[in-house]
Amino acid sequence: MENGKCNGSSASAAAMHVAMLVTPGMGHLIPLAELAKRLAARHGVTSTLLTFASTASATQREFLASLPPAIESVSLPPVDLSDLPADAAIETLMSEECVRLVPALTRILSGIRERRRLVAFVADLFGADSFDAARDAGVPRRYLFFPTNLHALTLLLHLPDLDVSIPGEFRDLDEPVRLPGCVPIPGKDILMPLQDKSRACYRWMVHHGARYRDADAILVNSFDAVEPDAAKVLRHPKPGVPPVFPIGPLIQTHCAGDDDAAAPPSPRAACLDWLDRQPDRSVIFVSFGSGGALPTEHMRELALGLELSGQRFLWVVRSPSDEGEVSANYYDAETKKNPFGYLPEGFVERTKEVGLLVPSWAPQTKVLAHRATGGFLTHCGWNSVLESLVHGVPMVAWPLFAEQRQNAVMLTEGAGAAIRVPESKGKEKIAAVVREMMVGEGRGAAVRAKVAELQKMATDGLRDGGAATSALDEVVDKWTGGDN
Ligand code: UDP
Repeated sequence: MENGKCNGSSASAAAMHVAMLVTPGMGHLIPLAELAKRLAARHGVTSTLLTFASTASATQREFLASLPPAIESVSLPPVDLSDLPADAAIETLMSEECVRLVPALTRILSGIRERRRLVAFVADLFGADSFDAARDAGVPRRYLFFPTNLHALTLLLHLPDLDVSIPGEFRDLDEPVRLPGCVPIPGKDILMPLQDKSRACYRWMVHHGARYRDADAILVNSFDAVEPDAAKVLRHPKPGVPPVFPIGPLIQTHCAGDDDAAAPPSPRAACLDWLDRQPDRSVIFVSFGSGGALPTEHMRELALGLELSGQRFLWVVRSPSDEGEVSANYYDAETKKNPFGYLPEGFVERTKEVGLLVPSWAPQTKVLAHRATGGFLTHCGWNSVLESLVHGVPMVAWPLFAEQRQNAVMLTEGAGAAIRVPESKGKEKIAAVVREMMVGEGRGAAVRAKVAELQKMATDGLRDGGAATSALDEVVDKWTGGDN
């Protein structure tokens, strides 16, 4: 392998194995799978991805089946959560499922340890309670993989203290929340599960923030150039805070179904064919991540705004979620009803020359890599942001839930890589922002230039000797000298 370390000094590492706990959501699975691929390709390390029974969607199954042989997956046993309130937040469900899995996980990790040279356990952001299982199973190292950015990590590491120093609700604060190295975040834009302190999900997040300190190290899917001040602060070791390694951007390098040349043309492939027929940088890609859906009213305004903008668009459409903005289909990316039925009357017919609508799911990284894609209207899920930056596509920010609102603040006011859609979400405003980005009017040109700069830094970091590659090398080098 060219430049790969497994031909060099780490060849002896070929038998090392890592177990990774993936809490629900394609946005968690995709970067952890990428981490596993990098460990295999560069260090000869094999991995087992441990997934929750609650997330066995068709999209996830297809994705897991497409992974290289060095990466196995094991579905953990189902957990009974029927005692939880019907309106329990996603974060609560994931955290409870994780805690209740500790005994089964301990057995599974012990089993892996009998067969493999298990050098480390990695859990993602809602999975720190599983460190208990790893410790009981005798796994020598426990890492937290943080699939989002250094701003969100800084917030969670400070949360146990903020819980004491800010007694009221974040959304009622007059001043933005100021944290070391971070862009000031208005209270209403702070992480969604922290917005109502009476809810269980808030307490869970405080709990996770405290438990992150039990990790031997924290691996973060971000890179210095996009949040340089936060990186500078976290680089300095602090008592009680594990060392932080920015190892990103780890983005999806392979879309499920890519290799199946014999498969009939799918709507997913059709969108790439459609892009082939569009001029360079002329299309805005519109997508709200693996589970995001808009309320009906916003969906209609977005349709009319795209039409009004006069720009070409490729839109991954899902049925609306009118239960607030937290997506009901987080656990299953496949939309259940015909999503096109919710669009304004005549919209599909009127825009058929300039727009393409795809139900549920598109090969996002391929769309972003396509020469015809010139902008990305995104919910600011961190994977989507990284994919956009790696492909040099400037963003229009339309955050929905999780940490997306604070990502939008960081991207617009910190990195300068996006323009945010105004809160009112009216069609004229949407059209104006889309035009600004696509035509390069107003802030559009500056954002485009900044994204080009970040693209270069992101890709440089992943090269041999680059910052992300060296950070991961440093982590793996500790395993070879270890006791297992
Ligand atoms: N994704 C995709 N096709 C889609 C929607 C999403 O391939 O139609 C992928 C996308 O490329 C990204 C992930 O799903 O890797 C979504 O992760 P993100 O963090 O952006 O958002 P989340 O799904 O966690 O809200």
